Amino acid sequence: MAIQKQETEQKYSIAKEIKVIDDFRYFVDDLFSDAIKKGASDIHIEPHKDKLIIRYRIDGDLYHIYTIDKSNQENLIARIKILARLKIDEKRLPQDGQIVFQYREGMNIEDVDMRVSTFPTLYGEKIVLRILRKDMSLLNLDKLGFLSVNLNLIKKAMKFKEGLVLVSWPTGSGKTTTLYAMLNYFNPMEYNISTLEDPVEYKLEGVAQSQVNHEIGYTFANWLKTLLRQDPDIILVWEIRDYETAKLAVEASLTWHLVFGTIHANQWVGVVERLINMWVDKYLVASSLKMILAQRLVKKLCSCAVPAEMDAETQQIFKEGLGDIYEELKPNASFKVPKWCDKCLGSWFKWRVGLHEVVLIDQDFSKLISTQVTADKWEEVRKSKGYLSLYQDGLIKVLLWITNLQQVLPYKSL
Ligand SMILES: [Zn+2]
Repeated sequence: MAIQKQETEQKYSIAKEIKVIDDFRYFVDDLFSDAIKKGASDIHIEPHKDKLIIRYRIDGDLYHIYTIDKSNQENLIARIKILARLKIDEKRLPQDGQIVFQYREGMNIEDVDMRVSTFPTLYGEKIVLRILRKDMSLLNLDKLGFLSVNLNLIKKAMKFKEGLVLVSWPTGSGKTTTLYAMLNYFNPMEYNISTLEDPVEYKLEGVAQSQVNHEIGYTFANWLKTLLRQDPDIILVWEIRDYETAKLAVEASLTWHLVFGTIHANQWVGVVERLINMWVDKYLVASSLKMILAQRLVKKLCSCAVPAEMDAETQQIFKEGLGDIYEELKPNASFKVPKWCDKCLGSWFKWRVGLHEVVLIDQDFSKLISTQVTADKWEEVRKSKGYLSLYQDGLIKVLLWITNLQQVLPYKSL
């Protein structure tokens, strides 16, 4: 298949060599700005026997950015340790620190938190900086890359006064952003919104946010019991993973509260199974559950990709996966990459985007929950209602040129 072949050919060497660093302050500031600008989540500074290597992690992959002469190592590492308020002379033990970096973009200045950790190796201290950028503009349902059919379903569920809205997730599926965007959808002046999170990642204006503390027994279940006396309208229970939390969340959602939560399951049928396996009465699940959203993150195409002919084999994949929808979209969505691109460092991808499966639980689904949940039956009802599967959502996003087929194919069996 043409698309697959192209993707394996795309690894470029991009590392720059540096012999002498004149000004370490300037160099480090520049390094941080550059990493943030390129959308890196981590900066790795790695001492080798005869050199120092700097790599960025961007959208999950490591990119080699600099090879630096070994003579600069001590000063460079010292500079970062000063910024992170670490002990300069302690080189034999790992240390953790934090930097608040003022990132300038045009006229804007943004405080970016970075978590710094050092690790002693044979050739000196290795440093990893985790960049924790809080881009509040992303906490907007309209900007999260939902297809409009799915976005409309979600907005419909947000209008309910009571009920349970669950996001199912495997690790790293971007559930944090989605949940925050959902809460952000409500005007905090009109509603009493409370959350219990583990941990609090973004601070939301007008929302009573609280953080789990297992050491003092401040758990999801304890918190929910107390919270119900605080007259909330909207509740976010970060994670439903035990019977007591599940039971309380379901009960709260049946008594005029809109409850949001996440549950660890691989697909939406699994969400219902998990709730029932936690011994929550299936009739209660059937009447409380209003919406299930399943999400996975895939890489998003960079703007440097341009269209190309799609071969017959590839077309067949779309026809099989999408049926009638394929004909409606009249696609021209294969692509090639013509030249080196500085924005994505030749990887073709920039940022990530969610693939989604949204199901509103209506009477037909509730009936299924209260009688017998089999994956086949669910599939049948889902199809009859025209809801897109995660895989179909992905195929459409390939045709709309948001991601590519290789990113989506692993979700075919879901
Ligand atoms: Zn690009």
